Amino acid sequence: MPQAVRLAEKYEEVFFAVGIHPYDIHMYDEAVMERYINHPKCIAIGECGLDYFRLPEDEEEKKANIKKQKEVFISQIEFAKKVKKPLIIHIREASNDSRQILIDYAAKEVGGVLHCFNASKHLLPLAEHNFYFGIGGVLTFKNAKKLVEILPKIPLEKLIIETDAPYLTPHPHRGKRNEPFYTTFVVEKISELLEMDKNEVEKLTTNNAKKLFKEFSNII
Ligand SMILES: [Zn+2]
Repeated sequence: MPQAVRLAEKYEEVFFAVGIHPYDIHMYDEAVMERYINHPKCIAIGECGLDYFRLPEDEEEKKANIKKQKEVFISQIEFAKKVKKPLIIHIREASNDSRQILIDYAAKEVGGVLHCFNASKHLLPLAEHNFYFGIGGVLTFKNAKKLVEILPKIPLEKLIIETDAPYLTPHPHRGKRNEPFYTTFVVEKISELLEMDKNEVEKLTTNNAKKLFKEFSNII
């Protein structure tokens, strides 16, 4: 049994998602998705999406990889709509194609989160399509200029805090293994940038997360 499922069964406050990351598209198998989707702690489909950061060098292979990434992404959007669960979206250097697919395939029906929002202005229109913006440790980094600038443009009711653990640990703990405790540094930075009270940011982002992942709202 996958570790995520084991953890979710052991701890009341842990949930899991089922999906195929763009780096693992060759493994996509809807039968596997079906096996886990009805688990009471499975609350989303993902990570799925598009990643053009690590493409094959050969032109033909590159084209084939992008084509396959799109197919697997679209299949997972359709699957999410069928099972009525939100999407956790991974986008790297593929903002325009990802936005277009999410809109064309009506992902709005289930919505989701743009995990580790990449600060691309091309993704902002997705706020109108039932998508939330996941903000993590990157916001606290010294080189986070783009994300700092775009943060106020994200509608407040679409802001969500995330860890991306074990990666992207917030400043001043960058480099250590990330864990949920460190999200407090992200909250602090948001409250500073948006001139909001820390408690208010906590409440807002928690409520947003509950709205998106409805199934855990009874427990958390
Ligand atoms: Zn990711």
